[in-house]
Amino acid sequence: MTGRQTDTAPIISIRGLRKAFGEHVVLDGIDFDVQPSQVVVVIGPSGSGKSTFLRCCNGLEQAEGGRIDICGRTLVQDGRMLADADCNALRQEVGMVFQSFNLFPHLSVLHNIALGPRKLRGLTREQADAEARALLRKVGLEQKAGAMPASLSGGQKQRVAIARALAMKPRVMLFDEPTSALDPELVGEVLQVMKLLASEGMTMMVVTHEMEFAREVADVVIVMDGGGIIESGPPATIFTNPTQERTRSFLQAVL
Ligand code: ADP
Ligand code: MG
Repeated sequence: MTGRQTDTAPIISIRGLRKAFGEHVVLDGIDFDVQPSQVVVVIGPSGSGKSTFLRCCNGLEQAEGGRIDICGRTLVQDGRMLADADCNALRQEVGMVFQSFNLFPHLSVLHNIALGPRKLRGLTREQADAEARALLRKVGLEQKAGAMPASLSGGQKQRVAIARALAMKPRVMLFDEPTSALDPELVGEVLQVMKLLASEGMTMMVVTHEMEFAREVADVVIVMDGGGIIESGPPATIFTNPTQERTRSFLQAVL
């Protein structure tokens, strides 16, 4: 478990977050804070708005009500987003990893990681490549620098995607079901990298069905259903003594 530092300002602060697709209200007034170095695991049934929640937190979806502050800046307030330039700057603080990897297929592993820092952090090729190699070492893929994404296993692709997100030096990492597309034997190598990040103090929000990971690594588990967070708390409490019947039946279905 990483330390919770409630005496400092939250990295992400969410108040009254509301998002609908047409008539369908997906997020109906969410309030939540993520503290520095906290690991927050988000669980809940399919369609409960977990992905939408994460996507709102890095501006991929525009919330239409409420407010999100990230690293002291207001991303969205009352349906108004930051101007594009500021939004892009803020996105650099918030790394995101998707279920489907989303690597650039025509670029080598090293180039996938080094591209963002060259374009957006203004690094030289030499600097960006050196940082990319260090990140590849961290995710255990040093020897794959020159490989093309298509030649990698799913677990290797996802580790490259994590390295690529880290290359922007984010202050928060969002993971949306990072292991759901993987063959079971490849899940562990990705979770291992995520555990390493958590142990280094990275602030993380993770949507996952990996309950063992949640038990081991999460400071807080939040349970989403019916447009909101129905309960939240330390994993020991949520998994062994949930207060909500809907949490109990969800856990019964996945455990
Ligand atoms: P989860 O990640 O928990 O499975 P999602 O956030 O993906 O849930 O979706 C929540 C609800 O919002 C679902 O009913 C889904 O169909 C709907 N939804 C998500 N994205 C869109 C979209 N771009 N347009 C319309 N409906 C969407
Ligand atoms: Mg989802």
